[in-house]
Amino acid sequence: MSNRPIIDTLGFAQKMRSQDLRLKLTDFTRLTDVSAIVNDLIQANITGGIQQDGKSFIELKILSGLTLTCQRCIGLFDFQINSRSRFIITATKDELLEISQEEQDINTILAETELDLIDFVEDELLLALPMVPLHEEGDCERPQLLDERSDSISPFSRLKQSS
Ligand SMILES: [Zn+2]
Repeated sequence: MSNRPIIDTLGFAQKMRSQDLRLKLTDFTRLTDVSAIVNDLIQANITGGIQQDGKSFIELKILSGLTLTCQRCIGLFDFQINSRSRFIITATKDELLEISQEEQDINTILAETELDLIDFVEDELLLALPMVPLHEEGDCERPQLLDERSDSISPFSRLKQSS
């Protein structure tokens, strides 16, 4: 994407703006093993706002049904990402440390005038995706293709013919 969406985080929050993103896997630079992902569209929404306690935040939602390739049986399976994370915007690093020490469940982000939204989404995506895509235990498909062909190419069947 030549025109990467960039926001001023505090301004975005204070104006309570909202932006939808429809991203393709090729937009991401750090998702290296994209071969595991079959479909090619990630939908995300970023919304800014101000909490009742006066803190500015941006909220990131990723809602995408992905098709991943199981690394055990090479079968496909559906993987739903439905994540919603709120980041409190802090003006200084001290404030950021303070908030993250007070409440460990709260995400924080340092105020930036040029936050690259694709990078931002990719950070979350990397957290949401499994390290190694695998079916649930017992859900793997038998690699049927190999079974069907085994009669003709198996070294054991050749042994039988020659003996
Ligand atoms: Zn599998």
